[in-house]
Amino acid sequence: MQKIYNFINGKLVAPKSGKYLDNYNPATGKVYSLVPDSDSEDVEEAVAAAKLAFPAWRDMPTERRSAILINLSELIKKNLSIFAEAESTDNGKPLWLATQVDIPRAVANFHYYATAALHLATEAHPMGTTAINYTVRTPIGIAGCISPWNLPLYLFSWKIAPALASGNCVIAKPSEITPMTAFLLSELCNEAGIPPGVLNIIHGLGPKVGSAIVSNQHIEAISFTGGTNTGKEIAKVAAPMFKKLSLELGGKNPNIIFADCNFDNAVKNTVRSSFSNQGEICLCGSRIFVEETLYEKFKLAFVDEVKKLKVGNPKDDANWIGAIVSKPHLEKILSYIDLAKQEGGKILCGGNQLKNINGFEDGYYIEPTIIEGLSHDCRTNQEEIFGPVVTIQPFKTVEEVLTYANSTRYGLSSTLWTENLTKAHQVAAKLEAGIVWINCWLLRDLRTPFGGVKQSGVGREGGFEALRFFTEEKNICIKL
Ligand code: NDP
Repeated sequence: MQKIYNFINGKLVAPKSGKYLDNYNPATGKVYSLVPDSDSEDVEEAVAAAKLAFPAWRDMPTERRSAILINLSELIKKNLSIFAEAESTDNGKPLWLATQVDIPRAVANFHYYATAALHLATEAHPMGTTAINYTVRTPIGIAGCISPWNLPLYLFSWKIAPALASGNCVIAKPSEITPMTAFLLSELCNEAGIPPGVLNIIHGLGPKVGSAIVSNQHIEAISFTGGTNTGKEIAKVAAPMFKKLSLELGGKNPNIIFADCNFDNAVKNTVRSSFSNQGEICLCGSRIFVEETLYEKFKLAFVDEVKKLKVGNPKDDANWIGAIVSKPHLEKILSYIDLAKQEGGKILCGGNQLKNINGFEDGYYIEPTIIEGLSHDCRTNQEEIFGPVVTIQPFKTVEEVLTYANSTRYGLSSTLWTENLTKAHQVAAKLEAGIVWINCWLLRDLRTPFGGVKQSGVGREGGFEALRFFTEEKNICIKL
């Protein structure tokens, strides 16, 4: 059985407790590797290494740090097929998706921040002939980066890259449900030239390792992506310690389709935005609102397309939908399908666990599911399901659909489809969301701010926002 190790002070090491957790392959439901069950002692050892490494990493010329991170990006690219295979096995996502999206994006994250850091400039504010202010940005010190299981290396690198590029040392924890690509990354760090102690990766459970990172007094910034309830727990601990906090949390994103949309594009992309990665993307649109005059036509075409999606072995390129990440998550999604039925929802397609996929009978598979007939304020339409389940509902006016769209506690992203540019601007302005896509979905430019409003998060990642988060400003005023 393959064992995963922690990466502390440039070395792959076993957890101090000597204990390991089972790591499941969701496609088969079988344990296939062992993950360190680390605790606060491992975090403390990593923090001690990071403290020693920090002065030299901070003082290294940015060009040198940049070159090291580009090396790391290139090494991931060189090993892309190994990483993609591992991501698919660990998470259940289709291999083609990991190959085309997840791993290339991790490559891009390191490359983008390695070069972006070169352009982070110092501002100056002259006060006529009296004085001049200049404002420098310095790294915080040690940053804690905690990431979820849905886009494992993609989101792990999205945090680590800006933290390292701006001169911080990092203690990082991937989700214990999908640790493999973070482990593969740790195997490349020495070859890339990352000095020992600069990046430390500790595997284990959130309430043990995650909370030890959040409560460690030497870790001065926490960048977290995960569920809203976990975000609340983290904020409770970090806020009284006056740590910098970046929280990217849950979503229940609306997808608004007006009658004047480009119909084929709207149908095709609504299939993508509903069911990509088994619906396990925080940006998936899970509540579809269609203008009444288009409702029946859209519904029929959408259901028709979704029925064609093949579900099964993630390694088979014919399958568009792979396995759900874990048994508890599978059960959670199925419980929401039951809830939707109790709330009066009608299942238009899907609705069932798939137990009879030849050779994969014990894997965690759910049919893509579309539900109609629910009110906008029922639990199914208010709570995050985070699986291949969407609801569909008609609306009459812009005011009505804005009420529906903005009715949840979340505000991560929204998508809208219309060929009327004026209406698109007006609706986008009133949507409570950190990101609005018009006539597209998941079209990402790494320079743009990324994050949510309301209970979808605090702060923004992406672009210079992340470099600003991982640095502190100091204004220096000189009297002339
Ligand atoms: P969780 O909140 O359960 O876990 C996220 C990470 O936090 C994991 O590494 C987890 O470890 C760790 N963790 C759990 N408890 C604690 C704790 N008390 N202190 C510190 N760390 C802790 O989220 P999921 O992994 O289930 O991911 C799904 C959620 O992530 C969804 O709600 C989704 O919307 C959100 N998400 C948000 C995104 C965004 O950009 N806004 C992007 C992607 C996902 P462990 O795995 O061991 O429990």
